[in-house]
Amino acid sequence: MELTDLYRDVILDHNRKPRNFGPLAPADASVEGLNPLCGDRLTLRLRMDGDRIAEIRFEGQGCAISTASASLMTEAVKGRTRAEAQALFDGVHRLLTDDAAPSEGLGKLAALSGVREYPARVKCASLCWHTLASALHCSGRAASVSTE
Ligand code: ZN
Repeated sequence: MELTDLYRDVILDHNRKPRNFGPLAPADASVEGLNPLCGDRLTLRLRMDGDRIAEIRFEGQGCAISTASASLMTEAVKGRTRAEAQALFDGVHRLLTDDAAPSEGLGKLAALSGVREYPARVKCASLCWHTLASALHCSGRAASVSTE
């Protein structure tokens, strides 16, 4: 099987059966993301355990790439620290914008490298990551008013 076929299968699978899809309550942060170019819309919610993402779920409607990307992202960042999530974000950003081969450690996120063949769709794939960055920022502020 060609690598590109494998990547396509991962995207199709995560679009058909999105992981971590649905509501999350209570949540430490809830952020809506919108990609007006395509009409992708998602709400990302997460619950922190200290510096770690304990739970992360998303809801919304979007194209296959935005849904698959959000599904892959939630799987990849669950249980990670803020810094680890940021490192994955950077890795995915390079994947979507450079010709570089997927770096090790990206795991299934490497499937998103196929998206760079379609520059108009890069925003579909990166929407959830920008939403995550914003959500991590929100929960950081919430944590700063904690009495602990
Ligand atoms: Zn889209």
